[in-house]
Amino acid sequence: MSRRKKIIISVTVITVFAIIIAFVIFYTNRDMDSGGYEKLREKMVENQIIKRGIRDRNVIEAMKKVPRHEFVDEDQKNHAYEDRPLPIGLGQTISQPYIVSLMTEQLQLEGDEKVLEVGTGSGYQAAVLAEITEDVYTVEIIPDLYKKARKRLEEMYPGVMVSNHDGYYGWEDYAPFDRIIVTAAPDHIPQPLINQLDENGIMVIPVGPPGWSQVLWKVTRIEGEVITEKIADVAFVPLTRED
Ligand code: SAH
Repeated sequence: MSRRKKIIISVTVITVFAIIIAFVIFYTNRDMDSGGYEKLREKMVENQIIKRGIRDRNVIEAMKKVPRHEFVDEDQKNHAYEDRPLPIGLGQTISQPYIVSLMTEQLQLEGDEKVLEVGTGSGYQAAVLAEITEDVYTVEIIPDLYKKARKRLEEMYPGVMVSNHDGYYGWEDYAPFDRIIVTAAPDHIPQPLINQLDENGIMVIPVGPPGWSQVLWKVTRIEGEVITEKIADVAFVPLTRED
């Protein structure tokens, strides 16, 4: 074989190898971007949600769909499907997946309810709600969190309405609501939220002092009467007030 032929064969072999390696790297990364997170999410739903007793199909399907890793900063993405709350900056957290699913299940959503969330945070809980019903309103008090969540939700769930104000007062312009979910703990149930809950409405709200002995309550309004039932002991960040 001539020297020239040998060089051509070597170059061809090296090029083919390089192309194969490039394909392998491309497909491995692609797998972690979509399929990898999807698998982690499926496991999360199986182990943390279904095994612990969440039964509502709407909630299970929504938790399977919402890409939780898209709601946290880059350095938290690999932890997004773990069994714990996640930091989202400024001292705030997204609740543990189980708590998100428990609270959503307690709302008994069928798909045509108008829902208010107090405490947008990352926008994750609002996204879970938006997978089930189209009419979602969410309120955040911290401007930087509001801006980030609004941008994210505009891209991923454009139907969700987001506002930057003190959610202690609900969202008067759009009241009444069929459902209200509060994801920060006040030391009492805010009267404006009870007023904005429609007849036969359900509100899920943690109440108690910061950091300990808070109780998650289900509040229902039936024929004008307000009924409260305890759901669980929980730990939420406090509901803060505008000065
Ligand atoms: N539901 C959010 C996480 C909630 S953390 C998620 O899925 O990511 C609690 C959030 O409530 C924080 O972002 C905090 O800034 C916000 N918050 C606290 N007090 C508030 C108030 N008075 N009105 C509106 N939001 C409030």
